[in-house]
Amino acid sequence: MDIVSPARRSEMMGRIRGKGTKPELLVRSSAHRLGFRFRLHAKKLPGSPDLVFPGRKIALFVHGCFWHRHPGCPYCYVPKSNIQFWREKFKKNVLRDERVRTGLEEMGWRVAVIWECETADPDALRKKLKRLLTRK
Ligand SMILES: [Zn+2]
Repeated sequence: MDIVSPARRSEMMGRIRGKGTKPELLVRSSAHRLGFRFRLHAKKLPGSPDLVFPGRKIALFVHGCFWHRHPGCPYCYVPKSNIQFWREKFKKNVLRDERVRTGLEEMGWRVAVIWECETADPDALRKKLKRLLTRK
């Protein structure tokens, strides 16, 4: 039984498709539009980087500001309850990110990070990507 009107359904679907705007997809489409060639989720590399630019040997991560602790970012807050739990959790995440970075660098990769909050403005994102991907 379908209790949702067609108009309402299409509105709901639109919202679901809206998930396509999540940070990683924004970075992908921006990098693509800039003409960079990349691969996704290189599972054989430490931390399976979100985007890998083999020609430039750059591994790029799109990090959520909350989980990966973007320094000084408003999204990088500590929830008010279970503070101890969160502190432990965050510490583990940050340590893992550091290990991943070291592992990649030891293999000769350069590591780049785009933070979730940096994907909100398409122009700023494009500039940041260009800078990260063309540095010598
Ligand atoms: Zn942030």
